[in-house]
Amino acid sequence: PPPEPSLHVEDLDVTYGRTVSALRAVSLTVPAHGIVALLGANGAGKTTLLRALSGTLRHHRGAVTGGRIRYGGTVLDGRDPVAAVRAGVVHVPEGRRVFAGLTVEENLRAGALGPGRRTPAARRAARDRVLGLFPRLAERGGQPAGLLSGGEQQMLALGRALMADPRLLLLDEPSLGLAPRMAEHIAALVRTIHQQGTSVLLVEQNAGLALALADHAYVLEVGRTRLAGPAGELARTDAVRRLYLGQD
Ligand code: ATP
Repeated sequence: PPPEPSLHVEDLDVTYGRTVSALRAVSLTVPAHGIVALLGANGAGKTTLLRALSGTLRHHRGAVTGGRIRYGGTVLDGRDPVAAVRAGVVHVPEGRRVFAGLTVEENLRAGALGPGRRTPAARRAARDRVLGLFPRLAERGGQPAGLLSGGEQQMLALGRALMADPRLLLLDEPSLGLAPRMAEHIAALVRTIHQQGTSVLLVEQNAGLALALADHAYVLEVGRTRLAGPAGELARTDAVRRLYLGQD
C-alpha cells in the first residue's frame, strides 16, 4: 500500500463573502497515524478549518484566500468535496447530519462513496466493519435515522463516514449535546477507529475529552493559532487549564 500521508496546512487564510475573515495564517499538521485536537472558543474558526479541508467552504459562501493545504502529494485547497473524499479525507459535520427520513441501512449505503467502495463486495466489507464497531446500528438497521437517540445518530454519522474508507477523519464536535457517558463511549469509539489505522482531526468543545484522546493539539483564537503542542503539555498550561478545562 502507498505510504500513509500526512496533512499540512500552511498559512491558511479563509474569508466568508467579501469581508468576514475567519482564519488568518493558520498552520497545522496531522502526521500519518496522528490524532490531533483542535480547541478554541465559539467562533474561533474550528469548523471553518474543517470545511476548508473537506472542500465544503463554498457551500457556506467561504473561500481559501491564501495559503496551502497538502495531503500527501495532493493539494486540497480550492478543491471540491469529491476530491477530498477521493484523497481519503472525510468530514463528519457538527450536528450529526444524518438523513432523518432514510433508514440506518440507507444512511450507511449513502456513505459508500470512496474510490475503494465501487464493488458490492467492498461495500459489504465496509458495512460489516461499521456494524462490528457499532452493534447498536445493526439492531436498528431498518429504522428511520430520525428516530435514533442523539448518541446513536452520532454513531451513524461516524459509521456513514467510515463507509467512504477515510484515511483522515475530520470530526466536528462529536460529543456535543450528549450525556457524559455517551460522550465517553463515542470517544472510545474514536480511539478504536484511530487504532484501526485512520488519522483523526478532532474539533471539540469538551477540551478534557479531546486532550485525553489526542497526541497533539492546537488552540485557535479568533482565526489565529494561539497555542500548539503535545496534548499532555497543553493540558498543563495555565491558559488551557483556565480557559478550556475550567480549572483554577
Ligand atoms: P463554533 O464552535 O461556534 O462552531 P468555530 O470555532 O467552529 O465555532 P466557525 O464556525 O469556524 O468557528 O466560525 C469562525 C468565524 O466565521 C465566526 O466569526 C463566524 O461568525 C464566521 N462564519 C462562519 N460561517 C460563516 C458563514 N457561512 N458566513 C459568514 N461568516 C461565517
